[in-house]
Amino acid sequence: MYRNVLRRAIVSWKMKPCLHQPARNRLWYRIDPLTHLANRIALHEALMRIESAPARPQYQALLILDLDRFRTINHTQGHITGDRILIELASRFQHLLGTQGDLYRSGGDEFSVLYETPFHEESHAKDAALFLAKKLSYVVSSAITIDHKSFRLSASIGIIVFKNRSYSAEHLFQYADSALFRAKEEGKNTIRFFQSDFQTHLESKAVFLEQLLFAVENDQMELFYQTQTTLTCENAPRIYGAEALIRWHHPHIGTVAPNRFIPLAEESGLIIPLGHWILEHAMRQLKAWENDPDKHTWRLSINISTKQFEHESFLPSVCALLKRIACDPRKICFELTESLLIQDAKKALRKIFELKRLGILLSIDDFGTGFSSLSYLRRLKVDELKIDKSFVRRMLSSPVDRTIIETILTLGKRFNLAIVAEGIETQAQFQALKNLGCRSFQGYLFHKPCSIASIGSF
Ligand code: C2E
Ligand code: CA
Ligand code: CA
Repeated sequence: MYRNVLRRAIVSWKMKPCLHQPARNRLWYRIDPLTHLANRIALHEALMRIESAPARPQYQALLILDLDRFRTINHTQGHITGDRILIELASRFQHLLGTQGDLYRSGGDEFSVLYETPFHEESHAKDAALFLAKKLSYVVSSAITIDHKSFRLSASIGIIVFKNRSYSAEHLFQYADSALFRAKEEGKNTIRFFQSDFQTHLESKAVFLEQLLFAVENDQMELFYQTQTTLTCENAPRIYGAEALIRWHHPHIGTVAPNRFIPLAEESGLIIPLGHWILEHAMRQLKAWENDPDKHTWRLSINISTKQFEHESFLPSVCALLKRIACDPRKICFELTESLLIQDAKKALRKIFELKRLGILLSIDDFGTGFSSLSYLRRLKVDELKIDKSFVRRMLSSPVDRTIIETILTLGKRFNLAIVAEGIETQAQFQALKNLGCRSFQGYLFHKPCSIASIGSF
């Protein structure tokens, strides 16, 4: 459902009207009647196939070539001459490409080439795509003779080099098109690549959201796990669980931290499918640990965003997942924020009681940074408070922060709540927290968040 809602809201792509073409005369509507090349609809279909094909290590390239000042030829020489030039160019391009790439007439004076490079390295693939673009450009600039008249043209070319499954069909075309636009802007007869730096990628919220949506649906998300440690009666550290922390492996940008995308996911509503994905994967991991002799006692903390919690689908989806995955709810700890409890306390209360009834543990994340209210701690039967890492970071230099930590620890004792300190990076912080009576810890000093493969050995 969200996929469709977001797609409709986000995508305003010039290729889109083609999607509404009737599905009859299938062959006919994919062929350009003038040049007999495959047309824009066929290109869109090819890009869709690339989007969903199994991942391949080789880079591919999409080149969009647009003739410079072609309109002037049409106006001054007439459309028949213009058409003959297009036919001649189509045949030259086809001759040049052979079986190397697929050629499309994607617009009036616009041709596109889908080119599968043999290279696994992006830089090599770019070189190959550039070489091809130069050959196409040369073909355009060679004189064309029509009715004893000689024409010399030039073209601008936009290129995107990509691995399949890293972009949606819409984005591939959109990005190659934006590279073409830049080539035109920079004086025509120019070749430009789509710049894959973060800024260009995520220049608009719409693009960002579209990519995020694609990421959720195409295995670019991964849960990392950070261990949580407690002290045994003999004061020896022992791992008792982990916190699931989401990561986005963007194919070009690299790993994106959640603070960069969770807020937008919340704002857009994408947090609902994303939150569901997180819940499902975290619960499956918890279930898998049941058969691991080292981890079968571990519990798993899952961050729940306020928007996700407030959504009507939250409780039903938790119940459905618990039923389907059959993991132990008493080993699940939902980390909620204080703001969630304050915004609509009555509604929140009802949901919280329901979660408690299921046996799920509740923790207040970043405790002390929000509008802490003692009354909700009493009413809500929260199980745990997490001391925010900002207090831990400053505790050795700031008496105020140290006092806040002491107060939270006292609160924990009075209300019978577990207290976990997070963000412990140094032995000195660990020692100071132990001296204040803290028993549970999380931080780089113990383990950094890591993939499930790395956590296997803990
Ligand atoms: P958080 O829930 O407060 O998570 C703790 C953050 O502190 C994590 O950042 C973790 O990597 C980091 N951290 C842990 N130990 C240390 C340390 O010793 N030093 C320092 N400097 N940092 C430490 P991360 O993974 O980047 O997550 C940031 C925030 O994004 C989280 O803060 C949480 O609010 C949100 N988030 C992460 N994963 C999820 C998720 O699955 N769902 C939701 N809704 N939010 C998530
Ligand atoms: Ca957390
Ligand atoms: Ca936190």
